Amino acid sequence: MNISKKILALVLCIALLFVPVVSFFYIAGHINHECTGQDCPICTQIDVSKHNIDNSKAFYIAALYVLIVAVTTASICSAVDIICHSGITLISLKVELLN
Ligand SMILES: [Zn+2]
Repeated sequence: MNISKKILALVLCIALLFVPVVSFFYIAGHINHECTGQDCPICTQIDVSKHNIDNSKAFYIAALYVLIVAVTTASICSAVDIICHSGITLISLKVELLN
């Protein structure tokens, strides 16, 4: 992976983290605003922020599932690699095969 792809991946990760955090702080900052009634722009933005958080929630659950599967697979592969490539052979154990 060249450096431009790494930078693009980093920017996308930051954007994925940035949107729900900003939405959360927007809702927290404007929860007690003076509402003008119907067509209130702040209420509309709060609804959009709630929608962003709901969409992000589904993404993070899927990402967590993928992370758990990846860590489990890496652990199993690491354990198999340690067992299979531990350097223990019949010769190193000095086992005589006399049959
Ligand atoms: Zn309002």
